[in-house]
Amino acid sequence: MSVTIESATTLTADVLVLGGGPAGAWAAWSAAAEGASVVLADKGYVGTSGATAPGGTTLLVIPPVAELREQAVQARLKAGGYLSENAWIHRVLDEVEIRLRLLEDWGYPFRKDERGETLRTHLHGPEYMKLMRRAVRKAGVRILDQSPALELLADEHGVGGARGIDRLTGRTWEVRAHAVVVATGGCTFLSKGLGCNVLTGEGLLMSAEAGAELSGMEFSRQYAPSYADGSVTRGRMLAWSTLYDAAGRSIHAGDRTFGSMHKLLLEGPVYASIDLADTDEKRRFLRQAHPIFFMPLERAGIDPFKDKFPLTLRYEGTMRGTGGLRLAGEDCRTTVAGLYAAGDAASRERVMGAVSGGGAYNASWAICSGCWSGRGAARHALGAGKSGDPDRRALQPVGRHGLDAGRETDAPIDTTALVGDIQRDVLPLNINFYRSESGIAGALGRLDALREALGGSVPGTVQGRVRAREAAGMLTVARWMYTAALARKETRGLAALAEYPALDPRQTHRLILSGIDEIAVGTERAPHAEELGRADGQAKGEAS
Ligand SMILES: Cc1cc2nc3c(=O)[nH]c(=O)nc-3n(C[C@H](O)[C@H](O)[C@H](O)COP(=O)(O)OP(=O)(O)OC[C@H]3O[C@@H](n4cnc5c(N)ncnc54)[C@H](O)[C@@H]3O)c2cc1C
Repeated sequence: MSVTIESATTLTADVLVLGGGPAGAWAAWSAAAEGASVVLADKGYVGTSGATAPGGTTLLVIPPVAELREQAVQARLKAGGYLSENAWIHRVLDEVEIRLRLLEDWGYPFRKDERGETLRTHLHGPEYMKLMRRAVRKAGVRILDQSPALELLADEHGVGGARGIDRLTGRTWEVRAHAVVVATGGCTFLSKGLGCNVLTGEGLLMSAEAGAELSGMEFSRQYAPSYADGSVTRGRMLAWSTLYDAAGRSIHAGDRTFGSMHKLLLEGPVYASIDLADTDEKRRFLRQAHPIFFMPLERAGIDPFKDKFPLTLRYEGTMRGTGGLRLAGEDCRTTVAGLYAAGDAASRERVMGAVSGGGAYNASWAICSGCWSGRGAARHALGAGKSGDPDRRALQPVGRHGLDAGRETDAPIDTTALVGDIQRDVLPLNINFYRSESGIAGALGRLDALREALGGSVPGTVQGRVRAREAAGMLTVARWMYTAALARKETRGLAALAEYPALDPRQTHRLILSGIDEIAVGTERAPHAEELGRADGQAKGEAS
């Protein structure tokens, strides 16, 4: 549908939050709780948009017993390749406990165990995010639904708001604010995962255009299995499945880690049947635990417990990576004054190091970083750090890529072709999962060349403008990922290069990226780097 673009709506607030998934919702609530006036703008509808809302998340909750907490922290430090920080992991474990109790007070129906103890380890997406929408509104936050942000406003004092477009009315909006929290999620390159097709990286792009840095972008090699004609990704189902090739021969059974699926899919189509769930009770349990996984199969007339259905792996990009905007303080500030980051839009390296997932840290991080960034932004807005009345500041839009401001020729941007070209170098397993120096360098060269395609005129429709900016976001995130991948010449967590199959203790540092046209790479020492050396020495000692 073509919508005529109308004149702007202009608002002023203390804090503007971009993105209304769990991180953005907690940020908005927390800023309002500090006494700030808050506007929250989301590309979709707050409460149903993003990676959590349509599904659900398992949380990392560890009782406040010193020994248990320390064990968890040490396990995470090791799993994350010694790039995380003990103090940040402890902060998450402490804060999430407080916030989940608050959710319970707000009426979230946590399940109870047989002794009547509340189980706070899982949040059902639709119920959770409906509750968060209600809490945010009750706190007085003004919500702009269906209102993607397209670029930030800034002056010499830092960031002071953003501009975007209302998809329903076609009106542009501008919010001037003392501080902005970017909580626009990760970037999954339109790989069709449920809830993830709004995650296209423009929040990272607009922050970098304002001067923000990134960290951890090389840790981005995660794929998740799903029914090929569906969008729900559920690795757990494979624990109950036999995998078959196109000729119906059994090729694998009951591998919960789905370690070999990447290889099998390179050899040909892979089919699954959940035939290891061989009793009514097991089948009922699976149906109840993961109802949305079964819905598209049933609609297609497939009995997943008997029939074979085609599988695919969906790329999860930076959402299930650990990279994002580099944080410069405990209040989740970035290196740009007035700009804060939370959730998957922020680098999670300080908490997860080189590996995300497999420990439910993402959902806990979204809550905690949301609270910290919202509070930090509010304090900046209400305190001495603010840079004058936003209505009087000489704020200018600083967006360039995939916008009229960056236009170099009159040829229109073909966003469909551009997105297809980006995906051709980002989604394939043989480029992005089985990474090699030559494969990644080749892909990066082709992606660099695609920048020219962004220099044309932007389509006049609302959807066209949003799509052009999304394409620019995905292209830039892909170039950051591959630049970082080539700069880490080792294999650590979600970063790997075939030429460097081992972990190299000398590279126990973080890679800091900045810039868009020219990408600069620097390093930052990880505070527990020497512990890897000690653990390594111990392991060698035990082996000899
Ligand atoms: C199938 C699945 C299962 C998962 N399971 C788990 C689990 O068990 N445990 C766990 O820890 N994690 C899990 N995760 C990851 C977890 O869902 C995410 O880490 C979490 O949702 C991050 O929250 P967020 O608010 O940062 O991002 P999201 O929830 O993705 O929200 C981002 C929001 O930003 C909005 N947005 C995007 N661009 C713009 C823009 N330009 N302007 C305005 N708004 C914008 C989007 O519309 C969206 O509402 C899972 C993810 C998936 C997909």
